[in-house]
Amino acid sequence: MFDKILIANRGEIALRVLRACRELGIQTVAVHSTADAEAMHVRLADESVCIGPPPARDSYLNIPAIVSACEITGAEAVHPGYGFLSENARFAEILTEHGLKFIGPSAEHIRIMGDKITAKLTAKALGIPVVPGSDGGVSELGEARRIARDIGYPVIIKATAGGGGRGMKVARNEAELEVAIATAQTEAKAAFGNGDVYLEKYLEKPRHIEIQVLGDGKGNAVHLGERDCSLQRRHQKVWEEALSPALNAEQRDIIGNRVAAAMRELAYEGVGTIEFLYENGEFYFIEMNTRLQVEHPVTEAITGLDLVQEQIRVASGAELPYAQSDITLSGHAIECRINAENPTTFAPSPGRVDGVHFPGGLGTRVDSALYAGYRIPPYYDSLIGKLIVSGKTRTECMMRLKRALGEFVVSGVETTIPLFQQLLAEPDIIDGHYDIHWLEHFLARNA
Ligand code: ADP
Repeated sequence: MFDKILIANRGEIALRVLRACRELGIQTVAVHSTADAEAMHVRLADESVCIGPPPARDSYLNIPAIVSACEITGAEAVHPGYGFLSENARFAEILTEHGLKFIGPSAEHIRIMGDKITAKLTAKALGIPVVPGSDGGVSELGEARRIARDIGYPVIIKATAGGGGRGMKVARNEAELEVAIATAQTEAKAAFGNGDVYLEKYLEKPRHIEIQVLGDGKGNAVHLGERDCSLQRRHQKVWEEALSPALNAEQRDIIGNRVAAAMRELAYEGVGTIEFLYENGEFYFIEMNTRLQVEHPVTEAITGLDLVQEQIRVASGAELPYAQSDITLSGHAIECRINAENPTTFAPSPGRVDGVHFPGGLGTRVDSALYAGYRIPPYYDSLIGKLIVSGKTRTECMMRLKRALGEFVVSGVETTIPLFQQLLAEPDIIDGHYDIHWLEHFLARNA
């Protein structure tokens, strides 16, 4: 096992990793930008190193500074959290070249899954069902027309290098296709420096269902059930739950076992998530995230596993000590992502947090780096905390969530807490009847 781990992240996820390390008896090194000198992850870590000025490209994405911080402090491994360098294959390689362990999959696996076309082809070859579409990039309009006619309109044009829901355009007919392709290419070039796009059948009313996997890099892998992340705004998840209200045990076993078998075949190391759209009883692979996800706590709640500790154990060379039959999924859990934003316009609301009160009690977890007097910097994303409730049933979770949101106080900045309180009064949410477009429609009605 490692003696000292550097956490290359900030905010709630840096705290999350720090807590896992501490419970394993591992020393922690925090890194931070000058804007985060007073942040909670810096205060709680055993040591900290300032790695640059506020913009992420000069600090949290500054690979030489992070490698130097490891060398100065004697950290043996780096946990990247999510976002920032967590899916940067080159970063994983550079760490290896310096004799440091990247806590996550191999650079090769990150690279395969980081390019959406290669990821889709790999998934297909591993027997995972994919969305019908072009088998590769599409650059020429004639070819795009042929493919679209073949799979049928509507189609979605997506950036090969895409992420964060950007660079996607829908075309409902041939007339819209030309504009959609040109716009998607321009946006992709601007956002990712790579204008390559591909085509997929646009699913009208799917749910977003993703399978959590864990492998040890030695050919052992298990799945830990699914999360339903259909409630999204601008393709960004807002509310996540495990298990999905839309699946039964048999459907879960079929897709879960197929994905776990694929991960064994890849000899995948660490945690990962295979994302699917789910419509009319069919699963369609959209992408794989080769890292810990924001919504991992709902899976922890139904499995009793600490996913970050599991990541660290397999990174240190341990074999998975359990088989699929040892994994039990029990109860229900829901996570709300709470942002410092206006709950109606979603305009960011950085600034000083005057007061904080977190809810507590049975089945109530808050992952947050906030404290009274903390100044939320304007440079990073606006996630300020996650409220995770768990219980024996979904109904129990809904009551618990309502109770916990009522106790949650953050003063001085605006938060999205009122949005979740509104959602809890909606019959579709109460019944679990929602698809990936539900939230956008709801917000449009209430604008
Ligand atoms: P990103 O990497 O940018 O997050 P994804 O491929 O994971 O992109 O897609 C993000 C979201 O976009 C999905 O959760 C879904 O809401 C929507 N989406 C993606 N592909 C399709 C599709 N073929 N049909 C309908 N919606 C889609």
